Amino acid sequence: MTEVPTESDIASEAAITTETSTWKNSMKLAIRDSKTLMDALGLAPEQMAANGLAEQQFPVFVPLEFLSRMRQKDPTDPLLLQVLAQDTEMDIAQSYHQDPVGDSLVEVAPGLLHKYRGRVLMIVSGACAVHCRYCFRRHYPYNTAPKRFEDWLPSLDYIRNDSTIHEVILSGGDPLTVTDDRLAELVEHLDAIPHLARLRIHTRLPVVIPQRVDDALCRWLSATRLSKWVVLHINHANEIDGGVVDAIRRLQSCGAIVLNQAVLLRDINDSVKALSELCERLVNLGVLPYYLHQLDRVAGAQHFEVDESQGLHLVSELAKRLPGFAVPKYVVEISGEASKSPILPEHRLAFLE
Ligand code: SF4
Repeated sequence: MTEVPTESDIASEAAITTETSTWKNSMKLAIRDSKTLMDALGLAPEQMAANGLAEQQFPVFVPLEFLSRMRQKDPTDPLLLQVLAQDTEMDIAQSYHQDPVGDSLVEVAPGLLHKYRGRVLMIVSGACAVHCRYCFRRHYPYNTAPKRFEDWLPSLDYIRNDSTIHEVILSGGDPLTVTDDRLAELVEHLDAIPHLARLRIHTRLPVVIPQRVDDALCRWLSATRLSKWVVLHINHANEIDGGVVDAIRRLQSCGAIVLNQAVLLRDINDSVKALSELCERLVNLGVLPYYLHQLDRVAGAQHFEVDESQGLHLVSELAKRLPGFAVPKYVVEISGEASKSPILPEHRLAFLE
């Protein structure tokens, strides 16, 4: 399960680094239960179906920076619905699983997943700066993933010994919950592997706590010789405020190409208006909205699912309104497949056959 960083985790991380740590303070101050979250938004308990059982299984974690972008007294707020534990999570539909994308089948060293040709993914941290209720890794056994640098040595050996690997993806959890000293050390070792060409970072931290993109992060990110790709995860235009804009600009000024992936979520972004506003906002910031994911069928998230027929309709409407580069690829991850699978209309599938 995604780990909640404890006060002592954060304190000990802070003790081993000299960097200014405002983002760590934000992690400490994050809201950790539904009642406090609803109180902060002026919502009465009866306005949301939350009885506490769901959050016992997957705790609530919401930084105040993210909270500040939610509307007061609005139980339908699209940011709130992404993070509030609700009773519906306890009804597990049959086709929903603990490991919907087959991560456990492709672990080649502790915390190292080799799913697709030429790329490997490192589970750098089990912690996140926000807990998204639809997360496909909400049941991932993070307790078995590496914690100290030495624990990564088998993974580094694996990468060094396979010259077909050209890209390393830092993921989690959120890899940017790890201190910059540790990330710098890891990236230095990756830099030294000659056949690696690209470093990709999958993170939601620059969105939920934008001050995470600080000088210390920019130093190691700018220094790597690897081509840098940062994939953000933003589902709704309301998530993007001035702080997020600054964080994106800083990442770009470090030489990173910034992309976004969104998940299609019922009552959150399943409308032409919501998706077109999001995609347009992103491209105006120089961020490519590269994927719109069909929900991964993870246990507890079925209330977020949108029918594929509706998803196809939304994407075709986006194509009528936006330039091609602003229309994300609509994809689904199928365990065992060699890549993400595009979701295409029937007439297009017939053409390809
Ligand atoms: S979607 Fe990303 S940020 Fe959200 S809980 Fe999952 S890993 Fe963490």
